[in-house]
Amino acid sequence: MKYFIASIVVFTSTLLAAQTTENKPKLVVGIVVDQMRNEYLHRYEDKFGENGFKKMMREGFYGANHHFSYMPTTTGPGHASIYTGTTPGVHGIVANNWYNPNTKEKMYCAEDRSVKTIGAANDRGQMSPRNLQVTTITDELKLFWNKRSKVIGVSIKDRGAVLPAGHLADGAYWLSETEFISSSYYFDELPSWVVDFNKQNLVEDYIEEGWQPSLPISDYKASLEDNSPYEASWAGEESPVLPKDLKKLVKENGKRKVLSLTPHGNSFVTAFAKAAVKNENLGEDDITDFLAVSYSCPDYIGHAYGPRAVEVEDNYIKLDGEIAGLLKFLDEEVGEGNYTVFLTADHGVAEVGQFSIDNQLPGGYVDMGKSLEFLDSVLTEIDPLGMDLVEEIEGNHLFFDKDKLKEADLELDDLSEEVATAINNMDHIYAAYPAYDLYISGGAGDFPINLIYRGLHPSLKGDVVWLINSGYINYGSVGSTHGSAWNYDTHIPLLMYGKNVNSGTTYRETHIRDIAPTLSIICGVPFPSGCTGSPIQEVLNK
Ligand code: ZN
Ligand code: ZN
Ligand code: ZN
Repeated sequence: MKYFIASIVVFTSTLLAAQTTENKPKLVVGIVVDQMRNEYLHRYEDKFGENGFKKMMREGFYGANHHFSYMPTTTGPGHASIYTGTTPGVHGIVANNWYNPNTKEKMYCAEDRSVKTIGAANDRGQMSPRNLQVTTITDELKLFWNKRSKVIGVSIKDRGAVLPAGHLADGAYWLSETEFISSSYYFDELPSWVVDFNKQNLVEDYIEEGWQPSLPISDYKASLEDNSPYEASWAGEESPVLPKDLKKLVKENGKRKVLSLTPHGNSFVTAFAKAAVKNENLGEDDITDFLAVSYSCPDYIGHAYGPRAVEVEDNYIKLDGEIAGLLKFLDEEVGEGNYTVFLTADHGVAEVGQFSIDNQLPGGYVDMGKSLEFLDSVLTEIDPLGMDLVEEIEGNHLFFDKDKLKEADLELDDLSEEVATAINNMDHIYAAYPAYDLYISGGAGDFPINLIYRGLHPSLKGDVVWLINSGYINYGSVGSTHGSAWNYDTHIPLLMYGKNVNSGTTYRETHIRDIAPTLSIICGVPFPSGCTGSPIQEVLNK
């Protein structure tokens, strides 16, 4: 019996180490770049300095074949998957906005009407992680250390801060107008250092400075010429070019846009992250803390200008500087070798539809009006009620009205099958499936069934689901978007650096859900409750 107990003790301590930080990071910093294709690390490489992205690649670990293994590849699901180590079908953040067929209500991923905004007199703070159905790596860290760890999340977007910080966070902060706010889910008033941070009113400095290119415009050889027909303009702007005179543009566009649609927003988030480390004493004692940072501006900028614009290239050159500055700061504050950083993205982005058309690439625009007309004609042939049979179309899910189906004496299975076949034959649709068939198949199959399956939640899935063709988007005539299962949306970078991280590169396919269990091993804490990923062996010290 004694031997038996002793062997359990030995086993547990090897698996989870003891409650000491001897071999653990004092601080983990998670960096999510909102909308970053893996290829940006290489296309813009010659413009990067030696101490940002390149330092993480050189001294840390680079997952060169890192992917989302589900769709939709959008912000809420992306952040939730990174931090829970699983996919939307398990964690429940199935989209930014979804339709719940049981309550017949639409839901925003971070929405929580039971809490109040803290720090502003508006409803932008009515957010919490309550829709997240499983624990995060940040939750597990808090639990392991009996809540003595500190966990802080920050982002311009609420969902970029709330979902990573998890259910037990000490605070999550996001942008209201020109100030960081939070919700009563965490506390009743902003910590005084946050109030002080907001008082600095940094946006005024950014407006004064304008958006100046880092290099002469002729040096942006990785991008199309500035003022291409694929870029969106600011209100009151003659043409969409750099430099941007923000003093002039701010009148018509507002100050919030300066913090979301220019690289200054990244500086703003970095400044806040540094203030959090200093004022919350992150990484100071022997208990691992966690700072979850999400840079939202690359997404806003990417949507407006598309992946081949000078503005996007310039934003990444400047973001590289932010990363370098943050690493230097962490070396000084927490100490080199005492902390771990990972960097990844919540999705990539498609080409601008018109760019694909102009260059004879597969791609273009999905005509939703025409698609709905076609669908209506198919349904009217089945039953005179036509589109009335459809309760909702949200994202790539179609929901039937089950009461109307009963009235019309139609079987859900048969109708789903028939409509999926019809959608399959629509223009620019790659494949459509009855969701139930795909769901019970357990995702057994190759692309795209495996990716669509992992986005299907048992109680939130629609009745018919589909994937549009490679390169096609449902978007305006300038700029671009994301959300598909194609490589331009799924292939994102993974960089890991610092304490307990091997240096090296892998070209083996790894997945976004592998990050959280890898962090569990690095920090010596349990896997998140719904984790379906596996630790990336090559990252971990032998
Ligand atoms: Zn995003
Ligand atoms: Zn431009
Ligand atoms: Zn986006």
